[in-house]
Amino acid sequence: MNENNNIPLQKHPLQGVGGVIVILGAGESGVGSAYLARQQGYDVFVSDMGAIAPHYKEQLQGWNIRFEENGHTEVEILRAVEVIKSPGIPDKAPIIKKLKEKGIPVISEIEFAGRYTKAKIIGITGSNGKTTTTSLTHFILKNAGVNVGLAGNIGKSFAYQVATEKYDCYVLELSSFMLDDMYQFKSDIAVLLNITPDHLDRYDYKLDNYAASKFRVTQNQTADDIFIYCADDPETIKGMTGRSFNARQLPFSINKKTKQGAYLENDNIVINTPQEHFEMSITELALQGKHNIYNSMASGIVAKVLEIRDETLRESLATFKNIEHRLESVGKISGISFINDSKATNVNSTWYALESMTSDVVLILGGVDKGNDYTMLTDLVKQKVKAIVCLGKDNERIHSAFEDDVDIIVNTYSAQEAAQVAYHLATKGDTVLLSPACASFDLFKNYEDRGNQFKAAVKEL
Ligand code: ADP
Repeated sequence: MNENNNIPLQKHPLQGVGGVIVILGAGESGVGSAYLARQQGYDVFVSDMGAIAPHYKEQLQGWNIRFEENGHTEVEILRAVEVIKSPGIPDKAPIIKKLKEKGIPVISEIEFAGRYTKAKIIGITGSNGKTTTTSLTHFILKNAGVNVGLAGNIGKSFAYQVATEKYDCYVLELSSFMLDDMYQFKSDIAVLLNITPDHLDRYDYKLDNYAASKFRVTQNQTADDIFIYCADDPETIKGMTGRSFNARQLPFSINKKTKQGAYLENDNIVINTPQEHFEMSITELALQGKHNIYNSMASGIVAKVLEIRDETLRESLATFKNIEHRLESVGKISGISFINDSKATNVNSTWYALESMTSDVVLILGGVDKGNDYTMLTDLVKQKVKAIVCLGKDNERIHSAFEDDVDIIVNTYSAQEAAQVAYHLATKGDTVLLSPACASFDLFKNYEDRGNQFKAAVKEL
């Protein structure tokens, strides 16, 4: 063990031999990567353009890992043998450009940590539904007694868990930014939920580039592996033509019968894998709404591929508690239901939220508009929405998108004001739905803050 750090080394230190591993960005993934790299015997240097959160600084100090904040020391960074980059840093950042010019490999935390585990990997990606499906899959496997970890874009970093836990299997939520810097990594079971426009600013405003990033979830797969995808999703199907896949394909669909994979028949989910058959009524599912039928199908296929018992799968799908801020029921006041779907930060997720509504809706919409095209909401808004409450600094685009479809569109500038106005516009039997279709950074710290403030405001009504 090296006297100068508190991390039990697994290998001889590489200082002076292998050179330095630089980690850019000291968030959850960066700090976890630093720990794992140090444990593997590398000399590690962490650099962050901004301020590092106090608890992460304390961790790095405790492990005797060198770091800097509020800027990058180029000479130090350009000496790296390899760089692990936080998913938040775009390729356009000057330091990344310089690293690439010098031919220094830049990889993601997942790529790095993947080298040090033999656990079975279930990699889940998509534009919407990742966290839900990842958590649901983890819940099912855990209930089945599998020694399974949950990581990726969720909870404790994959790298830290690889360094400190001994899981046989991981369910990983993979964002496109993580997938971009993955090369050798392989998912034994890859899940692609859907592809709809998001984050296009990072992909030269080309949907094809973003889709290519999502398809990386299948890279390096062999005939022994599994690829699960949504056969109803036009962009997925479009992207599959012209690409080749080595893995066994198990599609899921609500619209048509699939031979293998999952489909819907008489309100029953039917799952077929080479070894197994499973059926369950959608009325029994804990997660309601069309989007959640897809998510439940995807998780169910994973479970059946892993030959989880029918009873365990059925009970898990029926009892899973949805994670906060995703169509989360906040309660009923004077017969009006309040739902917090603050995580709906793009138009597609708001579409699914509205689609699942069974009453008239007062819809709270707005925030930072990432170039949204609201036309896909028009039909549902006409059918179900009696009033729109805008919650954002600039609500111009929402007004112009819906002025012909909804009589009442009101501007509000805080969660409290939005909840109060929505409450007054709603009547008994209606639903007030916060599903903003926009990011939250104009008025809130993040979507959690927006959802929490909304929930607190509803409790005060
Ligand atoms: P992600 O992690 O991909 O952002 P989440 O599971 O956190 O997705 O869900 C975010 C929002 O997207 C939810 O509030 C819901 O409205 C919507 N959503 C969830 N699953 C799907 C799906 N399969 N297709 C479309 N929208 C979905």
